[in-house]
Amino acid sequence: MAGRVDAVQIMTMHGTKGLGFPVVFMPSHFKRNSAPDFGPTYIDTEKVDINRFLNHRQDERRLFYVAMTRAKKYLFITSAEYKIEGKRRSSRNVLFDEIPAKYFMTEPKPDPTKRKPCSVDAVSEEVRFPTNYSELAYYLSCGYDYKMRFLFGFNPGVVPQLGFGKQVHNVINLLHKEYEETKKIPSKKRIQELLDEHFYLRYASEHVKKDLQNSAKSSLERYIKMWEEDFTLSVKTERVFELEFDNALIAGSIDMIKRDGADETILEIIDFKTGKPATELAERYDLQVQLYSIAAREALEINTKKALIHYLDAMKNARVMVETTDHALKNAKEQIGYAISGITTGSFKRDARMNNTCKNCDWCTLCPKRKGYRE
Ligand code: SF4
Repeated sequence: MAGRVDAVQIMTMHGTKGLGFPVVFMPSHFKRNSAPDFGPTYIDTEKVDINRFLNHRQDERRLFYVAMTRAKKYLFITSAEYKIEGKRRSSRNVLFDEIPAKYFMTEPKPDPTKRKPCSVDAVSEEVRFPTNYSELAYYLSCGYDYKMRFLFGFNPGVVPQLGFGKQVHNVINLLHKEYEETKKIPSKKRIQELLDEHFYLRYASEHVKKDLQNSAKSSLERYIKMWEEDFTLSVKTERVFELEFDNALIAGSIDMIKRDGADETILEIIDFKTGKPATELAERYDLQVQLYSIAAREALEINTKKALIHYLDAMKNARVMVETTDHALKNAKEQIGYAISGITTGSFKRDARMNNTCKNCDWCTLCPKRKGYRE
């Protein structure tokens, strides 16, 4: 799959996402006796809950599962106990002990190295490359950005607003679900209750969270006031799909499929965005919604005729139509196919068409491929 060469590859567990290998080694699985010691820190722990920045057991379990399931034939997990001055210094990671015993080889097996080598290509053909629009968009912005992010495993700095859009989408979905049961248009009080219960931003301080929650409340109240008819016309919110596309499997979720108010025989896709229309993002958003139109037709067999982006913070012209003609969807398919082909053949060059992307890129200070960089 992505970036595969016919040799031993050493990578982080995060970096293995989407890949598959005949044999996987996961060495040195020791139990952590306590949370990592950050030592002296300049962070004011009175104001910042440092626990929110630590890995939790469920995160570790998910990562362990991702790494384990990369193995197609053999998985070796190693650990060891050792003592210093008679005291035990390490023991196995408890996640290791959660693996059912039936999966272990307990009898001597013939040396696997004498067997016919496992074909790398055969594995690639069997497994579809799992991805989503957001990952493909990074590739389309710059192939090297994708490599930095998903193969090298760099993470951009955390911003307090991280997850804001997702939280607002979640509450919209809950509002629609409640309407399906009660047939009552949600009140301002109910919006506040749902926000109090479900609005959670992992990296925001209480003060920032409060501001963002108020902003979400205004957006949601405006949405219900101006687009109340969505509740009666909605067919489905958060419709998940998996679209087989070339040698990839693209997963996603369509915010809303609804009947058109003017002609209820027509189905349309609505994609909610927090914020106002922004020219620099229009192309990227259009491609996303075009991909969702393709997924609705080909993966869900729902013949949507229109697609619109709804900007939740726009005071007027909140809904912008996206072109979904056969010609537009054909172009969208070509772009998506280009990204999938580039990723799965390991082509991660800086895209020369995107000269302006470097200055706004998360890696602009450390990327050796950035525009104007001289060693
Ligand atoms: S700095 Fe430029 S070349 Fe490097 S990853 Fe970002 S956009 Fe690509």
